[in-house]
Amino acid sequence: MKALVAVKRVVDYNVKVRVKADGSDVDIGNVKMSMNPFDEIAMEEAVRLKEAGKISEIVVVSLGVKQCEETLRTALAMGGDRAIHVQTDDYLEPLAVAKLLRKIAEREQPQLILLGKQAIDDDANQTAQMLAALLNAPQGTFASKVELGENEVTVVREVDGGLETVALKLPAVVSADLRLNEPRYVKLPNIMQAKKKPLEKLAVEELGVDIAPKLQQQKVAEPKPRSGGVKVQSVAELVAKLKNEAKVI
Ligand code: AMP
Repeated sequence: MKALVAVKRVVDYNVKVRVKADGSDVDIGNVKMSMNPFDEIAMEEAVRLKEAGKISEIVVVSLGVKQCEETLRTALAMGGDRAIHVQTDDYLEPLAVAKLLRKIAEREQPQLILLGKQAIDDDANQTAQMLAALLNAPQGTFASKVELGENEVTVVREVDGGLETVALKLPAVVSADLRLNEPRYVKLPNIMQAKKKPLEKLAVEELGVDIAPKLQQQKVAEPKPRSGGVKVQSVAELVAKLKNEAKVI
């Protein structure tokens, strides 16, 4: 059984992102970039399923600038078998990503498609859902446990009220949440081996997808610094403050 794992190159989660002086965007020049943390979890899950003999091949895919190759090499070092890089300098909205991933999925015919639940740069939390809709495939988002059978996958989902278990017919789309697993540390020999693994390059035009943005970014601004909190003595005082000061009730 084949798994396809989507990995995005994002600003490292330790970096405090700054807004550009002209407020047009955030400044990611000379900033450390890494694999999106939720995609590392998705990748780790695929590797564990392969180690358990449930998956025979892991194909990793990344869409974006040339340096996405580094992210793909990391995924290959974690245990991916081969990589696909759809190279573009254009900004990709989640719908464009989902459309491109659909094309890759149609070519590769994976039984399981794993993504992160959200990318920590756009925080969109949309791609897995859109991809499942485009493929007309079942989706198990926010997965905290994945059990893969021959024809179906059981996914325990983190939902607002607790946990929900769903059984999905394969092929299915699953997005990884934080508690699914703890990704392994990539060792040097694996990094060296990963350099020899196949990495296919594709252009957006080859996939015939319209990636033109549907949204226009008007302005980016730092959030206002928070003012200090206060302790209230009673519920009545809290209600009064919410009514008269915060004006939210
Ligand atoms: P988002 O909907 O943007 O929050 O992203 C959700 C997930 O979609 C990510 O965790 C990745 O698995 C996948 N994804 C989004 N953008 C890309 C990309 N450019 N390349 C590969 N995977 C992506």
